[in-house]
Amino acid sequence: MEAKENVPFEQGPIRPPSEAESLLIRINRNCPWNRCLFCPAYKGKKFSRRTVEEIKEDILAFKEAEQKLKRLSFNYGYGGAVGAELLELIYQQDPELIQVGLWLYRGGKNVFLQDADGLAMAADKLVAILYFLKEQFPTVERITTYARAKTAAKRTVEQLTTIREAGLTRVHIGMETGNDALLAYMCKGVTAAEQIEGGKKIKEAGLSLSEYVLLGLGGRDAWQEHIMDTAAALNAVDPHFIRLRTLALRHKIPLLDHVEKGTFIPQEDEGTAREVKLLLENLTVHSYIVSDHFLNLLEEIEGQLPQDRLRLLDVVNRYLEMSPERRANYRLGRRLGYYRKLLDMEDRNRFSQVEEVRHNLQKQGEDQEQFLAKYLARYV
Ligand code: SF4
Repeated sequence: MEAKENVPFEQGPIRPPSEAESLLIRINRNCPWNRCLFCPAYKGKKFSRRTVEEIKEDILAFKEAEQKLKRLSFNYGYGGAVGAELLELIYQQDPELIQVGLWLYRGGKNVFLQDADGLAMAADKLVAILYFLKEQFPTVERITTYARAKTAAKRTVEQLTTIREAGLTRVHIGMETGNDALLAYMCKGVTAAEQIEGGKKIKEAGLSLSEYVLLGLGGRDAWQEHIMDTAAALNAVDPHFIRLRTLALRHKIPLLDHVEKGTFIPQEDEGTAREVKLLLENLTVHSYIVSDHFLNLLEEIEGQLPQDRLRLLDVVNRYLEMSPERRANYRLGRRLGYYRKLLDMEDRNRFSQVEEVRHNLQKQGEDQEQFLAKYLARYV
């Protein structure tokens, strides 16, 4: 059992950015597979299952925190509401209530079930947890989880339908790529056919489906195969959401050994921009596509397919058609937090600030790309 660190419930290390406002409930620990070469999330940590009783205890602890917050709110004259002033007070006095306080402040509607593979829990146990959660928090509207496509493919549509009826609304799946050679090379432990089967079953059960694509996963040598096969797999599934991520060479990933040996050559920013372009050109889906991660180069890739395809392609083309100097300015500004979008470069003040950083790097004889690689490796 892992430490609960001053709070009466367990928490896993990660959640999708789109679940920033969700209450995090840990239903199992770490990842049952944990071998993907590019993934640092649970390396060195062992997968284990939590019992239904343990999870119910956590849900009851959240409930108790909610009731305590409401009592405090009445005592301080806020009529039961959890607002910014009450949060400031509890931050000083009852910091263990802050997570539930923030959740209620943001609406208290969304829950994310951790860790890496929520569907790895036996279907009847997951159903029991979901009913209990809805009973304790009847105002919750959205309950989501990460799952491996392989696990989803092993579930029957009937099981997934029962899970949906009990309250699960969305499943986040890391497809990463639809290319079988890359899936094998990266030790993803799943084939493209299984990715498609798992995704289709989730949709058939009436669950909302988010599929994640990892830009750069094919490196410089296999980027076209990576993207073309990913587009084909996504077209076969037609998920509700496609979320773009960019491969990051974090310190503890096994893929770094391959980079050092020269057997994997990482993609550059121009390359990942071309990947987005090729993907958009080949998708025939009806998905909402989002680039919602700070490591992605082009955050404004967001829209409904197919109708927004041309607008999104225009974003990529605008980047690719910029002069090398302007692209270098954008890359640096984006990674240092000056820009979120290409349009931000039109702000003269910000543009000049980024230029100043570039000139300082040049004066110090520092290569911008190496500086960015070091900066990101430290940051991520
Ligand atoms: S299955 Fe997901 S969480 Fe597990 S190692 Fe692979 S990418 Fe990481």
